[in-house]
Amino acid sequence: MTRSPQLPKQVWLNGKLLPPDQAAVSVYDHGLLYGDGVFEGIRTYGGRILKLRTHLQRLYESAKVLRLSIPYSLGELEAACRQTVGANHCDNGYVRLCVTRGSGTLGLNPFVCHDPCVFIIADAIALYPAEVYGKGLSVMTSSVIRNHPKALSPRIKSMNYLNNILAKIEAIEAGLLEAVMLNHRGHVSECTGDNIFIVRRNAGEPCLCTPPVHAGILNGVTRNIVIELSRQIGIEVQCQDLTPDDLHTCDEMFLTGTAAEVIPVTTIDQRTIADGRPGPVTKRLIDAFRTLVRHHAPED
Ligand code: PMP
Repeated sequence: MTRSPQLPKQVWLNGKLLPPDQAAVSVYDHGLLYGDGVFEGIRTYGGRILKLRTHLQRLYESAKVLRLSIPYSLGELEAACRQTVGANHCDNGYVRLCVTRGSGTLGLNPFVCHDPCVFIIADAIALYPAEVYGKGLSVMTSSVIRNHPKALSPRIKSMNYLNNILAKIEAIEAGLLEAVMLNHRGHVSECTGDNIFIVRRNAGEPCLCTPPVHAGILNGVTRNIVIELSRQIGIEVQCQDLTPDDLHTCDEMFLTGTAAEVIPVTTIDQRTIADGRPGPVTKRLIDAFRTLVRHHAPED
């Protein structure tokens, strides 16, 4: 992140740029009282906002499912993100865009909240220590299953992350940084904040496998970039149900996410993956991803 430490930060709140200590949200906001809201995490590279349009579209889709109407057009939010990035000189950083239900009463009824609150923060983020990208992460399978899609669909990027936080706590207490979450059927869904890929070498040819969106996952923007990059470099991709055994016996494994980018996994549930080092397909995709974002990060 290239922002100067002396520069005062500014937060975009409902149309205005304000110093962070003045960017206040009501204690009656249902975003705070009930986790009733949606958000996006977006990355900037060389002043370009990676997949800004795609992130905004997902934000509107999440809001639509929750019957939350965002009081700005997509074009206005796009301009607001650019303004916030510019004001914070956040050329290589992270943008957090949140829409809360707004201020209401102490009851659950969302329809008494008439003014959704929108705020945008542009700041630095480092999800995992740098050395993990070289040596790979160790992960575990959590005992906490991912939300049942009929309870709260993981496709909605809502402000209620308690399901993921419970799995994260389990990982941290086991001395690990991430946990794999299974769905209600026992299939692999995703990690607490990242999507999952494995590589299998069937008859020598590597094939990338990742759980389908119907497994109850966030339809990750980075996941879709990696699927496209993989196909471009001639590696087959299959979206298919995976079991914990598939992860235990795979040839390579990695995670994808806006903040994490592409991160190798080298141990799962005390089992070493292949020779315990990031595999060749993972390394190729990390390189392809870095090349894409370094040269001219697509904003569509
Ligand atoms: N799954 C979950 C639960 C997430 O929170 C995220 C984003 N941090 C992802 C997957 C990855 O999605 P994206 O690539 O769009 O950031």
